[in-house]
Amino acid sequence: MTAPQPLIAGNWKMNGLAASLDEAKAVAAGLEGTTARVAICPSATLIAQMAWALKGTPVLIGGQDCHAEASGAYTGDVAAEQLADAGASLVVLGHSERRAGHGETDALVAAKTRAALRAGLEPIVCVGETLEQRKAGEALAVVTAQVRGSLPPELADNAFSVAYEPVWAIGTGLTPTTPEIEEVHRTIRATLIELFGAAGEAVAILYGGSVKPSNAAEILHADEVGGALVGGASLKAADFLGIIRAV
Ligand code: PEP
Repeated sequence: MTAPQPLIAGNWKMNGLAASLDEAKAVAAGLEGTTARVAICPSATLIAQMAWALKGTPVLIGGQDCHAEASGAYTGDVAAEQLADAGASLVVLGHSERRAGHGETDALVAAKTRAALRAGLEPIVCVGETLEQRKAGEALAVVTAQVRGSLPPELADNAFSVAYEPVWAIGTGLTPTTPEIEEVHRTIRATLIELFGAAGEAVAILYGGSVKPSNAAEILHADEVGGALVGGASLKAADFLGIIRAV
């Protein structure tokens, strides 16, 4: 089974106004020669404008969350179908900021993943342990349970990625050592193969947590790392391109 094409996805979180589309355009303009798939996941308010601004470029657009239902009385939420309709082709699900700040469980992440598939979106499902869990020696068990609980069987015939994002590395400037990243990614790979058979070998396992141009090459060339989910460093085109070029 050939290795999946690396994916570098930028998570803009709750940042960005219409003027920020210039950064997205600068990313698109700087992609010549890259071998990675590149995605930007802006706030839902920017998806349609970004899709228009990046039309004809290879940059994919993703949402940062979706509701598990296709429509209904869910004030303030966004359905996967609405993301797709606005121009998204991917969606980040189960980010630790959603799990911690909005009480998202593995079961809810799995339901959202099903919703994404129904809408034709490619899910990027996030998992990762807290610092307390790592210190207690529970990182592998926590991540394995999250992978098992958050990935529904319906993913079997569909493209998707898993993003390993240790909670303590997100936005902190801290990163695990390369052997620590590899240990978790190998464990995720084994779980993917257990869940999906040979198809589990073709799933890109992204690393996320304080990736920046200066550490991207080492992280992206680590065993079983198939790309990156990038927060802060994706907001500036020059930094994001520095990461993309490290693939
Ligand atoms: C993220 O929020 O997905 C993330 C990885 O953030 P940062 O790169 O800023 O640590």
